[in-house]
Amino acid sequence: TRLVGGDADQEERTVEAALRPRTLAEFVGQERLREQLSLVLDAARARGRSADHILLSGPPGLGKTTLAMIVAAEMGVPLRITSGPAIQHAGDLAAILSSVNEGDVLFFDEIHRMARPAEEILYTAMEDFRVDIVVGKGPGATAIPLELPHFTMVGATTRTGLLPGPLRDRFGFTGHLELYEPAELELVLRRSAGLLDLELKGEGTGEIAGRSRGTPRIANRLLRRVRDFAEVRGNGVITGDVARAALKVFAVDELGLDRLDRAVLTALCKSFGGGPVGLGTLAVAVGEERETVEEVAEPFLVRAGLLARTPRGRVATPAAWSHLGLAPPAQTAF
Ligand code: ATP
Repeated sequence: TRLVGGDADQEERTVEAALRPRTLAEFVGQERLREQLSLVLDAARARGRSADHILLSGPPGLGKTTLAMIVAAEMGVPLRITSGPAIQHAGDLAAILSSVNEGDVLFFDEIHRMARPAEEILYTAMEDFRVDIVVGKGPGATAIPLELPHFTMVGATTRTGLLPGPLRDRFGFTGHLELYEPAELELVLRRSAGLLDLELKGEGTGEIAGRSRGTPRIANRLLRRVRDFAEVRGNGVITGDVARAALKVFAVDELGLDRLDRAVLTALCKSFGGGPVGLGTLAVAVGEERETVEEVAEPFLVRAGLLARTPRGRVATPAAWSHLGLAPPAQTAF
């Protein structure tokens, strides 16, 4: 996993489990979403029914899995977990659905990556709590309806636009997770430091929060690397100086850019005068695949206002020049 990447591998997920908030009250930030979710859950509890299906959207590492676990915990019911990539055939989904119990929360991560043939099954399961099991093949095939208990589906996706309309419409509530403010990430870090029994002092918290790209997962990951540094090279205490020195070793700069991000910006400014330059040319200049530049480096550079994608090519913004400590040419595309 990239140090400042949003995704987690299996090993990191295990480490993360210890840091997950268990209740809505413990969950930091996302005020509006927390209030909305708490209303949805309170209302369901008052009616003595399972909650409506919930769709959570937002970039990786912002807390979708955590919220799904919290929904189940707050409703006092078991959580079942599956994911889009695990559903390759309609039968995979039918097997999971036919084993849910009344009231269960079924967390469906990366729901946009589910195989198309399974979608139809999901529609009837979500709307009518029924799956039609097809028995036999060809003209003799018959569909046997199987009634399902009422359950709550919590779907997670990076963008709601990736879901087909009919699937989106079957969720009674859609919540969007926004990138976290640095002050919120500081709260996440203080909470994690407490759980990990770390001494996090003074500017140390702000230094890490400011480089975490608005993402709790990245904040927690940088905290673990800074802890390594503090334990090996110091006395274990994380101060501003320790955090700065540690993140320098790991090549994460003040804005949370890593080596690849900086290489892209530097090539754009130094080799191409700030652009516009085509993606392919830029990729060759940094010795990476087009897809890596486009999918790994660019999304954050665009979000941070450092790079713009224009019809004529990639352009460095004035903020990019100033971040690299370079003077922009007299006439830029801006
Ligand atoms: P993915 O889509 O990659 O599965 P996700 O959006 O589901 O990511 P989580 O796995 O829920 O993200 O969260 C990643 C880590 O960040 C977890 O360790 C979790 O504890 C922490 N975290 C996320 N949101 C919060 C929050 N609001 N408060 C405290 N910790 C948080």
